[in-house]
Amino acid sequence: MLTPNAHNPLHVSTELAHLFDDPQAHYGTVNPPVYHASTYAFPDYATWKANTTGEQTREFTYNRAHNPTTKLLEEKIAHLEGAADCIASSSGMSAVSMALIGLLNAGDHVLCINTVYGPVRSMFTSLLPHFGVETTFFPCTACPSLADYLRPNTRMIYVESPSTGLFEIQDLRVVGRLGRERHIWTVIDNTWATPLFQKPIQLGIDVSVHSATKYIGGHSDLMFGLTAGTAEAMAKIRKVYTLLGACPGPDDSFLALRGLRTLHVRMKQHEAGGLAVARWLETQPDVIRVNHPGLESFPGHALHRSQTSGDSGLFSFELQPRGEAARAAFVDSLRFFGLGYSWGGYESLLSPLAFQYYGNEALRQELGLKEDQFRVSIGLEGVDDLIADLSGALDAYRQTVIG
Ligand SMILES: *Cc1c(COP(=O)(O)O)cnc(C)c1O
Repeated sequence: MLTPNAHNPLHVSTELAHLFDDPQAHYGTVNPPVYHASTYAFPDYATWKANTTGEQTREFTYNRAHNPTTKLLEEKIAHLEGAADCIASSSGMSAVSMALIGLLNAGDHVLCINTVYGPVRSMFTSLLPHFGVETTFFPCTACPSLADYLRPNTRMIYVESPSTGLFEIQDLRVVGRLGRERHIWTVIDNTWATPLFQKPIQLGIDVSVHSATKYIGGHSDLMFGLTAGTAEAMAKIRKVYTLLGACPGPDDSFLALRGLRTLHVRMKQHEAGGLAVARWLETQPDVIRVNHPGLESFPGHALHRSQTSGDSGLFSFELQPRGEAARAAFVDSLRFFGLGYSWGGYESLLSPLAFQYYGNEALRQELGLKEDQFRVSIGLEGVDDLIADLSGALDAYRQTVIG
């Protein structure tokens, strides 16, 4: 079995191919078996008794707590993140929920980046207040002076870098240092960068959560979450994991394991395709702005490069406003970009950014979300085909008579 060796580190692609796999333990099958289980029988009364009284702990006793297929995935991700432990769960939202419920108590105050993923914002605004947890949202521009936002009861700083929609970059070293100095938990949503391109725990952050539904699954057929972190944080989160019942099914853990094997190859293509399309969009007359942290023109680009070793294929752009009919013509002219939520799959997707807070005009204005902004997830198709597709759609956009 290949295990990491700090003195002789292997290429990440070799790790993704082999790390912790043990074919000879399973008749030589190169892929791990999928263990379907609810219960794991004890060999005899004495073993049952020892486990029940806590004299001896058996690892696998009930599937809500532990599963061997899922455990292999958790070990691989913990290693990639440089984390003490990782917990796999049924979705990205369950991964976030576990971190929040595991680390927060009634009376606590949270600081959260304001352009955070919408459902996470809802957790902070509509669910956690029921449990006595208050949240202040800060704009990315406030990052350097985050200490000014702290209250005596601030117990967590929650960031997402790059952020959802506008891809704003937060200084993870500064956030991590502030958290350590003031004994405040720091949590990041690391979905955009994947564990390959951004290692927040090594920059001083306590917990890194992922929606593995996106790039790690990679094939738009899986909901999955991952929570990785320091020993101190994960001890608390493991306790609530079993209580919340957020365990993934073993087939889903297998799909996540399978996605992980090709993650580096796919990310290279998403990165190259994303940058090529973003650079091309920048040259188009109807495009006002391209929000891609890998572009030299993007505010925060230098900071991004200092803490993130690569780019994924998700970014947004803003068009010269031409009204609803033109927006519809643009979207409906596209052949290769599906119109839908989610991202990180093999196929390109587009979604209007303003979808996030329809009906809440004040919040959309505050966050800088506009109806002529579109988010794109660049899939694995040929880049020339994607550019030709967008070019045709921009023609349709321009030709629509403003009504
Ligand atoms: C999709 C997403 C999530 C939630 O993940 P699910 O797997 O859909 O529950 C969390 N954070 C970000 C940034 C996401 O894009």
